[in-house]
Amino acid sequence: MSASAPSDTGLEARPASGGPASATRRPAWHPATVAAVAVETPNARRIDLEVPTWPGNDAGQHLDLRLTAEDGYQASRSYSIASSGDGTRVVLAVDRVDGGEVSPFLVDAVEVGDALEVHGPLGGWFVWRPGASSRPVQLIAGGSGIVPLLAMVTAHATADDPAPFRLLAAVRTPDDVFFRAEVDGAVAAAAPLEVTYVYSRTAPPASAVPAGRLTRDSLASAVFPPDAGARVYVCGSTPFVEQVLRWLGELGHDLTDVRAERFGGNG
Ligand SMILES: Cc1cc2nc3c(=O)[nH]c(=O)nc-3n(C[C@H](O)[C@H](O)[C@H](O)COP(=O)(O)OP(=O)(O)OC[C@H]3O[C@@H](n4cnc5c(N)ncnc54)[C@H](O)[C@@H]3O)c2cc1C
Repeated sequence: MSASAPSDTGLEARPASGGPASATRRPAWHPATVAAVAVETPNARRIDLEVPTWPGNDAGQHLDLRLTAEDGYQASRSYSIASSGDGTRVVLAVDRVDGGEVSPFLVDAVEVGDALEVHGPLGGWFVWRPGASSRPVQLIAGGSGIVPLLAMVTAHATADDPAPFRLLAAVRTPDDVFFRAEVDGAVAAAAPLEVTYVYSRTAPPASAVPAGRLTRDSLASAVFPPDAGARVYVCGSTPFVEQVLRWLGELGHDLTDVRAERFGGNG
């Protein structure tokens, strides 16, 4: 382990424009206890934290998670929050980056009852708030990039918000789909939500569309057209986000309506 701090603290340059709850949710360090862990995909784990002093968070925000070793060595990384609202239960999903310092520990070793620290909530730009607008919302996720978008999907369904939502999730295989039950639950709750999965390596047996990487054409056929006036949220590895932004621009989308969260990686 090296003592490097995260290169991206996730702090946003632009201010939040939320209501009173958002205004009082100032970022701070909070002690947290691992309340539950579950396999999310073969390479990722869902981690539920109990954070007694958590002030709540908007859908789309993230936090910094800090681990402290017995010798005092600390390492921290940013993680998006899959939950939102005023509760003290904070849900994360961490994908293992092979050779990484923090994520293999979180995926393979962290146990219920472990103590760690979180700093947040962070980010006032990559957020969606129920009732704020009736504009359509387009969500585009690469792999674990669905984590903050799941918070938006759930907030949208729970609030019975009428804004039409579309979710496009790019994954390798059906086993790599994050939060399938939660997304299916939002659809079953009759939320105005259309979901498209693009499988790059293996498609489900019943799929009419063969496996293949996301392309500009498959992106165009799954997302709201440029004239729909949708607010677009894109999240995933940095190369995935950059590629999607390029395609959206080429397809005529107004990039000032696109908000992006980059998880890192070089492709
Ligand atoms: C705002 C924000 C939110 C994030 N939310 C999530 C989340 O919800 N779930 C999640 O799993 N991760 C998320 N990340 C990524 C996370 O912060 C770490 O970068 C990731 O867990 C790797 O950390 P590590 O210590 O294991 O790897 P490191 O030791 O930091 O890096 C090891 C190597 O892996 C590369 N690398 C780092 N991150 C990635 C990546 N994401 N993909 C591919 N290669 C990478 C590095 O360039 C380096 O070469 C988020 C990042 C940001 C900035």
